[in-house]
Amino acid sequence: MQSIRGIARQLFSLFRSVCNRFPRCFDQSPLASRNAEKSFKYVVVGGGVAAGYAAREFAKQGIKPGELAIISKEAVAPYERPALSKAYLFPEGFARLPGFHCCVGSGGERLLPEWYKEKGIELILSTEIVTADLAAKTLLSAAGQIFKYHVLIIATGSTVVRLTDFGVQGADAKNIFYLREIDDANKLIEVIKAKKNGKCVVVGGGYIGLELGAVMRMNNFDVSMVYPGPWCMPRLFTADIASFYEGYYANKRIKIIKGTVAVGFTADANGEVKDVKLKDGRVLEADIVVVGVGGRALTTLFKGQVEEEKGGIKTDGFFKTSVPDVHAVGDVATFPLKLYGEMRRVEHVDHARKSAEQAVKAIKASEDGKPIDEYDYLPYFYSRSFDLSWQFYGDNVGDTVLFGDNNPTSPKPKFGSYWIKDGKVVGAFLEGGNPEENKAIAKIAKLQPPVESLEQLKNEGLTIACKI
Ligand SMILES: Cc1cc2nc3c(=O)[nH]c(=O)nc-3n(C[C@H](O)[C@H](O)[C@H](O)COP(=O)(O)OP(=O)(O)OC[C@H]3O[C@@H](n4cnc5c(N)ncnc54)[C@H](O)[C@@H]3O)c2cc1C
Repeated sequence: MQSIRGIARQLFSLFRSVCNRFPRCFDQSPLASRNAEKSFKYVVVGGGVAAGYAAREFAKQGIKPGELAIISKEAVAPYERPALSKAYLFPEGFARLPGFHCCVGSGGERLLPEWYKEKGIELILSTEIVTADLAAKTLLSAAGQIFKYHVLIIATGSTVVRLTDFGVQGADAKNIFYLREIDDANKLIEVIKAKKNGKCVVVGGGYIGLELGAVMRMNNFDVSMVYPGPWCMPRLFTADIASFYEGYYANKRIKIIKGTVAVGFTADANGEVKDVKLKDGRVLEADIVVVGVGGRALTTLFKGQVEEEKGGIKTDGFFKTSVPDVHAVGDVATFPLKLYGEMRRVEHVDHARKSAEQAVKAIKASEDGKPIDEYDYLPYFYSRSFDLSWQFYGDNVGDTVLFGDNNPTSPKPKFGSYWIKDGKVVGAFLEGGNPEENKAIAKIAKLQPPVESLEQLKNEGLTIACKI
């Protein structure tokens, strides 16, 4: 059966082709006669982290009531998404909205739905855009509403990669969860309650897998983590860094199964997941499976209309795309990372916040005919699980040096790593740092000081960063 979205898309294309063939039958704007049509000077499509920070920047720069709309598939105002895999799932002292609306994650003002109202910013929630016509500057929602804009900011973020995408047998069983939006987290919480003290298998050893493994254990589940690599977070962690986290998790009685993947699931008579079959032949019992095997940028709406690169929408250092008056920010943007002279797409919250602010500054500056500096981003990632907290700044390329105490049984482990390329420090990681120390590793990654010897770096460790 054809989906509502498919039908809406077809109707919209049909309507547009009729308008194009018989423009005189309609007003100057062929779509203007539609009741459901709304026009804005600025539209942000997507209502996540980048949208929240864009709204705050628009308000700071000055907008008139009714000029800005944020259109979001989600039912709630922009919030700090990282909370979903952390405090939102805690068994006690959990975070709930409105506690973590943007922009509290960076220590800023919490923008409640009333804030948008006061500023005259229209929050159009529970509204999925199903068609975007960038040439006609028009968006169409699943419910048939038409939105026109002068300037568009694409902030659709990313979506999870699903095991069903690879045809994994039984991957559509009930109680197999992915975590992207607050609705996903709410469904998971319901099943955590229903399957109290049960068994959970976490598929994936990236930061989502590690954070979810920890919260499921905190919820008193018997947790097994399965991932294909030789160690967790292989895209960032060195073997030494990973061995600390794997040891720490093992001490929390989380079973870690490496070097294999889930190849199938069996379900019980209710269709609920029962077992996870691994490629190496093992079978793990499961009441809940949580999957974190990566994401992909949500560019589908704009395919063929805008230039793409490295899986995202290509932008310049002002987040302008190849289409005039269209910007892309956050997870969806592939932008010039000036520090390393290359195009990158970054799926992390700090970049979502900063790219949104940069895009709005650029839009407002171009209206005023003023120049602004190009985006000059220092990559920053972080994660928290159990009592642990790490931060990473810069680039994880070249040789590595580990420093500090990475013994997982230490009462207060604190360690880090530097990455050294062409005789310079280019990246720095720190577990257990205080705010001053975290600032110090950011500074060393940004300034890239020359390294005299790897031995010295190892011996002096964090002191070197703190001296800069
Ligand atoms: C569970 C979880 C934990 C995370 N933890 C961390 C962390 O600890 N550290 C870190 O650095 N990063 C973390 N991240 C990544 C970080 O949250 C993202 O990089 C960030 O949210 C990207 O912001 P964004 O605005 O580009 O996209 P998002 O915040 O994903 O927002 C996109 C919005 O667009 C909406 N949307 C999409 N398509 C449409 C459409 N067609 N019509 C209308 N609306 C649409 C979506 O519903 C969503 O509201 C985490 C991500 C997740 C999912």
